[in-house]
Amino acid sequence: MSTETPFDLKKTVNLPKTNFAQKANLAQGEPARLQKWEQLDLYHSICRARAGREKFILHDGPPYANADIHLGTAMNKVLKDFIVKSRTMMGFDAPYVPGYDCHGLPIEQHVEKALEKKGKKKSELSVETFRRICREHAENALKSQTRDFKRLGILGEWDDPYLTMSNHYEAETARMFARFVERGYVYKGARPVYWCIKDQTALAEAEVEYHQHTSPSVYVKFPLRSDPATIDPALAGRKVFVLIWTTTPWTLPANLGIAVHPDFEYSAFEYGDEVYIVASELVEAVVSKCDLGAAPSVVARFPGTKLDRLEAGHPWIDRPSLLMVGEHVTLGGEADAETELDVSEAQKKSPDSKAGTGCVHTAPGHGHDDFVIGKRYGLEIYCPVDNAGRFTPEIEHFAGMRVFDANDKIVDFMRERGVLLFSEKYDHRYPHCWRCKNPVIFRATPQWFIAMDGVEDSTSTHRPLREAALAEIQRVKWIPAWGVDRMSNMFKGRPDWCVSRQRVWGVPIPVFYCAKCTEAVADPAVINHVADLFERESGDAWYTHEASELLPPGYTCKGCGAAEWSKESDILDVWFDSGVSSIAVLESREELRWPADVYLEGGDQFRGWFNSSLMVGIAAHDRAPYDAVITHGWTLDAQGRAMHKSAGNAVEPEKVIKQSGAEIIRLWCASSNYFDDMRASDEILQRVTDGYRKLRNTARFALGNLHGFDPARDTVPEAEMEEIDRWALAELDRVLEKVWTAYSAYEFHNVYHALYNFSTVTLSARYFDIIKDRLYTFAPRNKARRSAQTALLRIADALARTLAPILVFTADEIWENLPDRVEPSVHIAEFPAITGVIDDSLVENWTALFVIRDEVLRALEEARVAKRIGSSLDAKVTVEASGKIFELLQRYQNDLRYIFIVSAVSLVEVPGQVIFKTGSVRVSVDTAEGEKCERCWNYSTRVGESERYSTVCERCIAALAEIENAS
Ligand SMILES: [Zn+2]
Ligand SMILES: [Zn+2]
Ligand SMILES: [Zn+2]
Repeated sequence: MSTETPFDLKKTVNLPKTNFAQKANLAQGEPARLQKWEQLDLYHSICRARAGREKFILHDGPPYANADIHLGTAMNKVLKDFIVKSRTMMGFDAPYVPGYDCHGLPIEQHVEKALEKKGKKKSELSVETFRRICREHAENALKSQTRDFKRLGILGEWDDPYLTMSNHYEAETARMFARFVERGYVYKGARPVYWCIKDQTALAEAEVEYHQHTSPSVYVKFPLRSDPATIDPALAGRKVFVLIWTTTPWTLPANLGIAVHPDFEYSAFEYGDEVYIVASELVEAVVSKCDLGAAPSVVARFPGTKLDRLEAGHPWIDRPSLLMVGEHVTLGGEADAETELDVSEAQKKSPDSKAGTGCVHTAPGHGHDDFVIGKRYGLEIYCPVDNAGRFTPEIEHFAGMRVFDANDKIVDFMRERGVLLFSEKYDHRYPHCWRCKNPVIFRATPQWFIAMDGVEDSTSTHRPLREAALAEIQRVKWIPAWGVDRMSNMFKGRPDWCVSRQRVWGVPIPVFYCAKCTEAVADPAVINHVADLFERESGDAWYTHEASELLPPGYTCKGCGAAEWSKESDILDVWFDSGVSSIAVLESREELRWPADVYLEGGDQFRGWFNSSLMVGIAAHDRAPYDAVITHGWTLDAQGRAMHKSAGNAVEPEKVIKQSGAEIIRLWCASSNYFDDMRASDEILQRVTDGYRKLRNTARFALGNLHGFDPARDTVPEAEMEEIDRWALAELDRVLEKVWTAYSAYEFHNVYHALYNFSTVTLSARYFDIIKDRLYTFAPRNKARRSAQTALLRIADALARTLAPILVFTADEIWENLPDRVEPSVHIAEFPAITGVIDDSLVENWTALFVIRDEVLRALEEARVAKRIGSSLDAKVTVEASGKIFELLQRYQNDLRYIFIVSAVSLVEVPGQVIFKTGSVRVSVDTAEGEKCERCWNYSTRVGESERYSTVCERCIAALAEIENAS
């Protein structure tokens, strides 16, 4: 032994040392790391590292390039990032090409308003100029969104996202329209669609929202023109009326018929010298509502079929109203006008189940059911209302009046004429325009449609869209599973898809009309010819070129041979645009492939993007463009209310990022089950931050104790490791299995909970606590210490890799502080391998030991509270046990003082099988014998044995000798 000056004891203790700071300082650290990634060209580095591997494609649903991102947008993108990153770390080549939805009404409105502020009008500008301003607006918005998404740590092809307004995309959209035409799915017709009279355009099903609205509810008499005796002889010679009920009196001028149910029984009852027909079940309700005296006297009862094809007269216009039978007629609520596609919406409807007469006023130009039955009975699709919602000149008394203003006037008018039985105010859910929030109407206008059930007289041999879609929906995996029903119901109920819009900021419908015979030319070859021009010049070409320049040279009308043309002025529905993305992006980009493995969006996309994408997939390849569809919930406040800036309950991502870092938003996304609605508030985010700190501290402990560890030199082979270190690795394996399974199933909350519990319970409260003594007091390169470090390296490495998809910044920071990393970023690495050699008996033994440990810790805590000991190292514990438990403890006799973190343990065997009151063992706590070692703080009776180190114990003397020899 050397005789040099003794060591400064404090310096011989291996205290943790790492650059991985305790305080995260995310708000500053994250931007710096983003810059580093930028320099590394991290996204493309990952792509290169995965080149040639099996592909996994998540296809991004494009957010609308109009506004700043909110918490819901952030969550949507972060969840996608979890998927892409976890699949990448599973070894897949998982490229991510984000996209933006750039066309459409909201941008047009925004630009119009901005023009108005400058005192200009849209009509003063050329279409090209207006489109250019729209394009600039979208470009600015998407630039700012891109900046925000990147700030959230989302990796992807941000330099070259897909834009629905790019030349290629616009060309592909036009080509896809040609494809629908080619397959015989497209027709032009007048069919009622949602119509906003403020914005003067048709609206898609996904563009209306339901709000409470007050309408006049009216009961109106329609005189029967046919001989009533044909219904029942008892009615011969009577003045008979059919009673209808409606909440849209403004549609009465367009009435052409009345629908009854073929299976309902109807009654004719007397009131004064008149006889009224209503459904038998509703007689009492109608009599009481319209105050028609006490007991009604029923003259005749008959099935609805008796009324079929009889004729009533319009209450004030000299025109017949045809009686028809239809299954859509109900005995309560509204069966007219508004079709509702969303099941949940339909359930909210009809607050007054006994409203109505069972005889439904039918205006084929103003309602979906009305249209369907009107078509069947050969009625005209009559719509005397113009784009601005005003009655056309042919409507006497009300011409030029807006329909909602006309409502009350029509009620008064009918009252004066004596055709109104009753009217009242009626609150119900009514469709409103999602943009301007005004109530919408149903209105038939000439529009381009995609047929769901095949086009009349078509020679197409392709399966009708509805049928094909319903079959594909069954094949797709829906997560959560209720998606299959939601989507099926959506498709069972949806009317033909109206794809034309009376707007300019979008992809023009490349159809021509013959100037002579007005024949519409929707020819796939011609459309593709125009699409090629879009590819070179964008959709603007439609407006900057004459028809003759757009058509193939020498093109003449097949109907009349003329060569003069006008251009269609409508553009395509933006949902058509975004629906095309799988073709325009997945099929067009080399690094991607069609179909996608997965789509992930909010539940509103069942009638939006999931829906239009499916139809495009079928038209293109007879197949859904996705194999799996994941739906996430809404972001709500702590009380479960929707977030609104105006309500002051909105959690703004920008603010959270500035205060706490993007990592906290990411961890929040992983902290609860996103299949349900996700709640956020300052308090909830504070809890997430606490969770973050615990994960961070766990990683920091491991990193700090790896200081000086050289894996190549110091790693201990698993077979030679200390048993508890092997146990920790077995537990790690079990967690890795859980994490892998949860990532595979997109259950990120299960990833978080598995890693959180592993960090706080298995590691911090147990493993780390026990190995501290060995790490701190043993000679730095002692094999037992290296054994613990070998385990710590595996653990820290696994934490970095498994946390990487969620905590993108922190995991990379852990990675940077690990010894001996090959990849410059954790995001290029893969998930850790599961060794698969979990020693079950090992895990079993240690599970039992930890149960006993909990009992010992309880006893120590009691002694501490009673002030009999200070720290647990002041104590010596006596453990009494019997049978198997005693045998187990005896096996680990030498380790027990370290497991319990006390200075000494004495083990006493109790004969026979004893169950103690407190548990499997009886624990008594005494003060430890001997003196406290200055170096390791354990008590020992052998402190003072060394002359050079008179204040340390025999273990420390050995450690110091080892250190001396090594130096
Ligand atoms: Zn509107
Ligand atoms: Zn012609
Ligand atoms: Zn000691």
